[in-house]
Amino acid sequence: MARADYHTHTPLCLHAEGTPEAFVDQALRLGLADYGISDHMPMPNDTEKSFDNWRMRSDQLPEYLEWIGRARRRAEGSPLRVLAALECDWFEGIEPWINELRRRTDWDYLIGSVHYLGSLGSVDDSVYEQSPTTGSVEEDWRLYREAILRLVQSGLFDILGHMDLVKIWGRRTQELPTLFWEPVLDALAESGMIVELNTAGWHKPCATQYPDDTVLRELMRRGVPIVVSSDAHSPAVLGRDSERAQMLLQSLAPRGLREFIHPCPVTSTPLHVYGSL
Ligand SMILES: [Zn+2]
Ligand SMILES: [Zn+2]
Repeated sequence: MARADYHTHTPLCLHAEGTPEAFVDQALRLGLADYGISDHMPMPNDTEKSFDNWRMRSDQLPEYLEWIGRARRRAEGSPLRVLAALECDWFEGIEPWINELRRRTDWDYLIGSVHYLGSLGSVDDSVYEQSPTTGSVEEDWRLYREAILRLVQSGLFDILGHMDLVKIWGRRTQELPTLFWEPVLDALAESGMIVELNTAGWHKPCATQYPDDTVLRELMRRGVPIVVSSDAHSPAVLGRDSERAQMLLQSLAPRGLREFIHPCPVTSTPLHVYGSL
């Protein structure tokens, strides 16, 4: 089966490392079909002062596109496809900026992710690790699910990123996962969006991929296409755990696993995805 990695970062986000050439060389070594570059999007009006300390500023977009251009030049003459993307943050009121970013260049796809939970900050930040934000784990999960639902309903994104990142520090809701996620699963099935199996969770305190097994099974049952992504912040992590992820999907697919080409719902870029037979 063709392997691909659609969620990767660059040093412009200030917490990743590696040159475009190093990423491409690693992709070629692994025999990837697609290397998708999807760094954290810049925020509006942030040329003076950064919104936070883990993303490029909006005036660095040309630099980002040049980085992608270098990767493309390195891959020239090989079968590797290098794709231009962004990992976009979704929160209340961000929609006009996403539309503005979309106009800046011809993106191959946009990933929609939720990091920020209201005024509570970013859930993958160690500040959140130390203090559960709303006072109850159940409430945090509910807030996170509502944000994900709104993201999916916005129709702005092609891929849904790490859809249960709120579990990163190992704190769990007691609710039944399938029932809990039902509104999101329904919205996803209707949206044509692709969901990522993000393998980075295997290396975090939660020690499990995003999203959970039960959610992956339900997604495949409903015909939602799945991509496997590493969320690499360095060349060495590119494509990490892709075989393990494929085996997991194989074990969860209701009628056996198949790989097929699926167009992104917004941009129509064809991607290598997995689904149930
Ligand atoms: Zn990051
Ligand atoms: Zn993310």
